[in-house]
Amino acid sequence: MTKEKATNITWHAGTVTAEERAAIKGHRGAVLWFTGLSASGKSTIACAVEQVLNQRGCHTYVLDGDNIRHGLNKNLGFSPEDREENIRRIGEVAHLFADAGLIVMVAFISPYAKDRQRARELNPPGKFVEIYCNAPLATCETRDQKGLYKKARAGLLKEFTGIDAPYEPPANAELTVDTGRMTVLECVNGIVAYLKKNGIIPRRTRPALESSSLALRSSQSAERSTGRRPRNRPIPGPARAHAGIIPRRRQSKPRS
Ligand code: ADP
Repeated sequence: MTKEKATNITWHAGTVTAEERAAIKGHRGAVLWFTGLSASGKSTIACAVEQVLNQRGCHTYVLDGDNIRHGLNKNLGFSPEDREENIRRIGEVAHLFADAGLIVMVAFISPYAKDRQRARELNPPGKFVEIYCNAPLATCETRDQKGLYKKARAGLLKEFTGIDAPYEPPANAELTVDTGRMTVLECVNGIVAYLKKNGIIPRRTRPALESSSLALRSSQSAERSTGRRPRNRPIPGPARAHAGIIPRRRQSKPRS
């Protein structure tokens, strides 16, 4: 459990509410928390969901376990204590993103139920959506792109979830996606349908998501190579309003 070190600190309340921040985006702020074994598909599905939401004009961000361990959490390992701190920090960060009005996707193994519960409790009801990426261990081992299971089986990697460290599956996740059997597109469609049904994103009339209309990019190839958004992708919806930080002038209202 993290010890509080600072004393004499007082919460300073702002004057703009989370709802007011989210209102200008046309959707609600929310945390979509993807949990599951390594190689169960958390990052793949989270990035694919982000792509669909972005195309619908939603303001999104993906917090990916491996990526965050390159920076914010680079001082943490895989002991039970470090895993708890890993999730505590990212739970707080995710909450801030959602409070800012974004839909934030968290793709972390997050093996312990109590750590996920703590992350959930930071958010108002309905704003934390736990998504269990459920694939059998054997399937995950066959998808082991990074060769981590092989190393763990050979005893070269200690405290690896599913091998010599536990994974506690969620008992009451809002959604379970059967990533062992379903396609990526089926999983994404299920999640987007949930977000619509629960009022997190609007039920906007858009072409149905079909494999032909949704060309899911593989692993954000363009962003990986340049570190930037591809130039030819339009910035959708309200984000345009302050693309140059803030506009010089308010857009004049049409005269009635
Ligand atoms: P994780 O983030 O859970 O470690 P990744 O998304 O990095 O997992 O890797 C999952 C691998 O499984 C990818 O190579 C992905 O293409 C593959 N895969 C196959 N079917 C699915 C599916 N239905 N959902 C997610 N990933 C899938």
